[in-house]
Amino acid sequence: MNKLDSELLQAALRQNGLKYVATPADADVLLYNTCSVREQAEHRVFSHLGRWRKKAEADPGFILGVIGCMAQRLEKDIIRKFPFVQLVCGTQSFLNVPAYIAKISETGRSVIQTGGGPLEFERDPALRAQPHHAYTAIMRGCSNYCAYCIVPDVRGPEVSRPLAAVTDEVKRLAEAGVIEITLLGQNVNAYGRHPNYNEGAEGGLPALLENLNAIEGLKRIRFVTSHPKDMTDDILQAVAQNEKVCEHLHVPAQSGSDKILRAMNRKYSRRDYLEMTERARQIIPDVALSGDFIVGFPGETERDFQQTLFLLETTGFQQSYIFRYSPRPGTRAAAFEDDVPDSVKRERQQTLLAAQQRYDIKRRGLLKGAALNVMCTGKNSAQPHEGRSMGRTRQNDIVVFDAAPKRENISKGDICKVKIESTTALTLFGTELAG
Ligand code: SAH
Ligand code: SF4
Repeated sequence: MNKLDSELLQAALRQNGLKYVATPADADVLLYNTCSVREQAEHRVFSHLGRWRKKAEADPGFILGVIGCMAQRLEKDIIRKFPFVQLVCGTQSFLNVPAYIAKISETGRSVIQTGGGPLEFERDPALRAQPHHAYTAIMRGCSNYCAYCIVPDVRGPEVSRPLAAVTDEVKRLAEAGVIEITLLGQNVNAYGRHPNYNEGAEGGLPALLENLNAIEGLKRIRFVTSHPKDMTDDILQAVAQNEKVCEHLHVPAQSGSDKILRAMNRKYSRRDYLEMTERARQIIPDVALSGDFIVGFPGETERDFQQTLFLLETTGFQQSYIFRYSPRPGTRAAAFEDDVPDSVKRERQQTLLAAQQRYDIKRRGLLKGAALNVMCTGKNSAQPHEGRSMGRTRQNDIVVFDAAPKRENISKGDICKVKIESTTALTLFGTELAG
């Protein structure tokens, strides 16, 4: 979501005559788009800001700004600690940033804005970040209030965009050459299903997927993130029936212990989660599931952790993101004692990573010999595979491959049939099949 916000803002700035420069030190305007999900990310931004003090104080034309979740959450702290920051803009008005910058240049005075702003706007497909792929937000905010999570506080309530607006945007992106679209939302499965904020989106995700599947030129559709409690059969069927929708679901489990899931306010049990994965596998042949886990949530005992390990091992994830719990001020869990020592959090994180790696080796090893549809995402730039094509399968696995003999060139967005010849834990290697 942050990546998309940065892209949209960059496009808005370019429309207003600003140019992107390759090195931050060369910039007249330097913006940090920030994340508040974990404390470490916030620390990193603070240390970056400190480095610009000299330049900001010496150069009156230089504008330093902080936008996004951290700006929303820590507006006063940022100004107090870094008085040379001239722009603080929250999550809901970032598209006004070009106007704020013009105002700062004109008046020399700071702008602090953490109120609302437009959600609908005319997006210029020509100013997208990549030729073949684009993100689009189908909803903003979140109303789930998982006990550990700061997102509902900093991004506001869950609001779905109208189906017609999303369809029109994707159509225009496809006309401009986009082959693959990734739909974004904190909980895309709830698209159009909020009792108050769903105008024009009443058909929900299934209707949206069906609409997008009909768009000419578009070849792949993905969506993130799915909440396990909202993974209804009609969504799974929509994935199975609309051929452009890829067989990959990102469905964070967070924990495998019912006690911890309850304390996290996740609204499903371990059994519900496992039952959901079975339904997904029945309805969508070849589906790959990925997920997130948090280790060291308050009160997590060794027994709770073993249940998480069990869930990870029995489900078998195409990819797992494993985070150490980080208390976030103002969330429900911040009132609980952060009682799992950091050393134990790290140990549990390593244990899950090792289990995931064992499964990665096994699962990708089984793909040897398979012929898979791979969408080219560019060229590999690192040794020993420099110059070879890179791509993704429909299940989102990374593939390094060579073109079939006599084939001229493979471009970003081409879909190739690739025979897998060897595998490592994280990568598949192969050659395009001729014809
Ligand atoms: N809306 C998405 C993503 C939210 S943030 C979802 O519900 O899955 C991405 C991930 O960060 C979460 O899935 C969770 O695993 C992790 N996360 C969120 N808050 C956290 C915290 N306080 N400490 C550690 N990890 C956290
Ligand atoms: Fe945070 Fe939960 Fe909302 Fe995801 S669903 S953004 S984890 S509150």
